Amino acid sequence: MQNIRNFAIIAHVDHGKSTLCDRLLEITGTVAPRQMRAQLLDSNPIERERGITIKLAPVRMIYHLGSSIYTLNLIDTPGHVDFSYEVNRSLAACEGVVLLVDATQGIQAQTLAHYQQAKKLGLTIIPVVNKIDVTSADIAGTQKQIVDILGFDLDSILLVSGKTGQGVPELLEAIVDRIPPPTTNFPLPTTRALIFNSNFDPHLGVIAWVRVVDGQIRTGDKLFFLGTGALTTAIEVGYFIPQKTSSAQLNSGEVGYIITNLKTVADLQVGDTITLADNPNLTALPGYQLTKPVVFMSFYPTDGSDINLLRDALGKLKLQDSSLSYIPEHSPALGNGFRVGFLGLLHADIVQERLDREFNLAVIAAAPSVGYQILTTNDRLISISRAEDLPDPAQIKEIREPFINLSVYVPENYLGSVIQLCQEHRGVMRDMQYLGRLIMLNYHLPLSELIRQFYDQLKSISQGFATLDYELSGFLPSDLVRLDALISGVKVDALSQIIPKSQAQYIAKNLVEKLKSSIPRQQYEVIIQAAIGSHILARADIRPFRKDVIAKLSGGDQTRKDKLLKKQKKGKSRMKRVGKIDLPQSAFLSILKV
Ligand code: GDP
Ligand code: MG
Repeated sequence: MQNIRNFAIIAHVDHGKSTLCDRLLEITGTVAPRQMRAQLLDSNPIERERGITIKLAPVRMIYHLGSSIYTLNLIDTPGHVDFSYEVNRSLAACEGVVLLVDATQGIQAQTLAHYQQAKKLGLTIIPVVNKIDVTSADIAGTQKQIVDILGFDLDSILLVSGKTGQGVPELLEAIVDRIPPPTTNFPLPTTRALIFNSNFDPHLGVIAWVRVVDGQIRTGDKLFFLGTGALTTAIEVGYFIPQKTSSAQLNSGEVGYIITNLKTVADLQVGDTITLADNPNLTALPGYQLTKPVVFMSFYPTDGSDINLLRDALGKLKLQDSSLSYIPEHSPALGNGFRVGFLGLLHADIVQERLDREFNLAVIAAAPSVGYQILTTNDRLISISRAEDLPDPAQIKEIREPFINLSVYVPENYLGSVIQLCQEHRGVMRDMQYLGRLIMLNYHLPLSELIRQFYDQLKSISQGFATLDYELSGFLPSDLVRLDALISGVKVDALSQIIPKSQAQYIAKNLVEKLKSSIPRQQYEVIIQAAIGSHILARADIRPFRKDVIAKLSGGDQTRKDKLLKKQKKGKSRMKRVGKIDLPQSAFLSILKV
């Protein structure tokens, strides 16, 4: 126990976490150099390509220092806000963290978000300046930020290059010296383990990644899950080195895995407490919370007969990803499909990409939306996520939408434009603080605004320097209306949206223009209208083909950076027939563009 250290590396995306993990594995001899390939822990191909870690692979390293032998359990964390609940759980499995700051970038939004989480959990924090091998690195400036903004002593900051390995041996020593070993209560209490993550293996079923907090868990033990109430048997327990390596037992303070004999990840919840069925401890460890979807998107197969393939594909993804939820839906215009709930936009993006790559499914994705709560005139509260589910206005007392507490970190010279952007997106400023050279702005703003290109606009007005982080704050009433789009008189439900009433005219006008530029010319004249109820707010016409005119598939969308759209480029050839008219994928995303 004295020789165990459980720690995580926390950093803003791209600050070098995965690369540093690789060096740690190499220097401790956990992975032989010839087996080494870059970013060993990012196992899903999409994670590797995008450089994000979704599932946190923990790894056990044996480290020799002087005459002592230490077990270091390294827990990787995802760097994106969509997965902040998982970050929190994995930090709860640790006593300390290595806080990495890229010397070419300095402190960024997620540096601070992760730092605050670690501090709240009372963890030991080792500040590290990374990428010191880069010639453009501002090492002194980054050190100063860490001192000024985070309040560390200059002497406590380590300088490291995850790429060359410089400073990594000193970092390993600091991990042993500064991070305390796990403690346990005496007399030995009954067993409790925290599930900080899970994965699904097609052969082994659901595997729980746990930190044993009290007692021990042995292979063959009967387990009871306090949150979900599941009862099962530990088929095997062991450690990640980094491959799964079985062991007779996992002791308190240790991090490892349990093959649970559960068939789908929905039977298990991250943050749940495992205890022994025969001698249960009924006090849950802090942190159990059901994950709720906040962003919704509808998928329709371009070929309606693929609906069963889509159902199977979603089912398979759900086996591995318990935070994914979906229900069948029918759209009069687009046929059968599924309404899918996600943790955030990145999550939606990843799932869509997996459908495409792993299942080769061509789907039309309707633009994402948030969930709404409707208070009816007879005082019922109903939840909807599609504009077409909005009840008749006569029955609505109040529409509530989700709000977030948004933190934007921005260098001073971009402050004015960022404030303007937040105001245009219905933000109300709550706080503004100087953090050294950075300014932190806190805004209260509707989540739906984040979906409307907020992130891209923020990046573009700040030349990439501003970063953001957010948490949901709850549902509040807003003055909202439903805007419909009609294509040659046919209402296309997937193009309906819920928008702020005050912006209705502006949005309607832009919507018809965007649709006009994304819908190819057809043999007939196409009339595009935007309407609230029977009241038409805007109209645009697409003239029919003339002999010498070649149909243009997509109009001049300048914002190539928009990931969603970029990925849809392929999908431009995907068309969905509505009435007599073929609508391309880009038309369905045009409602995000206004
Ligand atoms: P993560 O998103 O925090 O896991 O970051 P990665 O480890 O994937 O690194 C992001 C990028 O920075 C990759 O292109 C790495 O090769 C590069 N990188 C990471 N660490 C270093 C370093 O110490 N020096 C240099 N020059 N590049 C690095
Ligand atoms: Mg990574």
